[in-house]
Amino acid sequence: MKTPIPAKNQDPAATEASFTKCPECGAELQATVKLYLYEVAVTADGAVLSYEGGPKPEDESDILELCDMQDTSIYCANDHPFDPAKAKASPAEQITS
Ligand SMILES: [Zn+2]
Repeated sequence: MKTPIPAKNQDPAATEASFTKCPECGAELQATVKLYLYEVAVTADGAVLSYEGGPKPEDESDILELCDMQDTSIYCANDHPFDPAKAKASPAEQITS
């Protein structure tokens, strides 16, 4: 018998899974990204009044560049934090009834 799948078909991009849904409840994933602003003027209450410098994202790729893993929180619409380890452990096709 011949091997059905040649090694050539193993696309490295395909082996890296991506997720769009919460592994716990299936809701869409969301993200918050920290923005660092410089020379900030703040009220006594701690509200930011103005700033001199900071990122000025103009398009999607600029925003994605700001999504540093340490500064980005991923969670679902139901506030479940996204845990990559948990997502990999659960099968991609879950039967929800
Ligand atoms: Zn969820």
